[in-house]
Amino acid sequence: MIQGRTAIVTGGSRGIGRAIALTLASQGSDVAIVYAGNESAASETVALIEACGVRAQAYQCDVSDYESSKLVVENIIADFGEIHILCNNAGITRDALVPLMKESDFDEVIATNLKGTFNMIKHTYRNFMKRKAGTIINISSVVGIRGNAGQANYAASKAGLIGLTKSIARELGSRNVRVNAVAPGFIATEMTATLNSDLEAWLEGIPLKRPGTPQDVANLVAFLASDASAYITGQVIQVDGGMAI
Ligand code: NDP
Repeated sequence: MIQGRTAIVTGGSRGIGRAIALTLASQGSDVAIVYAGNESAASETVALIEACGVRAQAYQCDVSDYESSKLVVENIIADFGEIHILCNNAGITRDALVPLMKESDFDEVIATNLKGTFNMIKHTYRNFMKRKAGTIINISSVVGIRGNAGQANYAASKAGLIGLTKSIARELGSRNVRVNAVAPGFIATEMTATLNSDLEAWLEGIPLKRPGTPQDVANLVAFLASDASAYITGQVIQVDGGMAI
């Protein structure tokens, strides 16, 4: 049950984040989405969430920026009250083999994917401590488990999220706050659209022989956000069609 709760979904304007926001909304949770700059996508998501009969608001914020993410969390708490669910989904790629990977490619990916998640957890930590309840779900990747040529920066950020998840799960467990990571495989979104020319090769490595959908990921996030998963914390759960068996 997540009826009447409030969720923050970073990167909620598009792709997997939008599916997560809509799934939580369809189960009765109010949703604050955080997005980087795509205002029209964010407004569209807000309208879709509101159509589920719950409250929604979009907040523009670069999660990699410590002060901006602090301000956005303060604003969300002022607007919605307590936070029950935090889903750290905002992420970017800057793929290249290491000789061609610019320093800025490495820094930007770590800053958004890993530090952005730290920032959001840091600024909501007191809210969760005080409530003595809540769930945090961090979107990692199978690439953070297996590594991937051409994605050293991204894999490092997603592996880092796993250590972050397990550490915060240990820190907040005694406060009844659960922290889990979800590791999607190949999910059809704008992020992976450029990989579609290699789709056959990707499908070769996926036992279920299809790309995942944002909804496949959202269903797992909704489960981890709900009381149905009340005894699950510190886990990394793959939703990848068997890709990383
Ligand atoms: P998309 O590129 O479709 O969407 C990215 C989202 O993140 C957008 O909402 C974007 O906002 C937001 N965002 C990006 N940078 C920032 C930032 N600095 N601050 C705030 N918001 C930001 O990605 P996907 O939906 O495909 O991926 C979502 C998550 O799932 C990512 O963490 C990704 O690494 C992970 N993942 C994806 C897989 C896939 O196959 N697609 C596989 C495994 C993991 P805006 O719309 O304003 O640009």
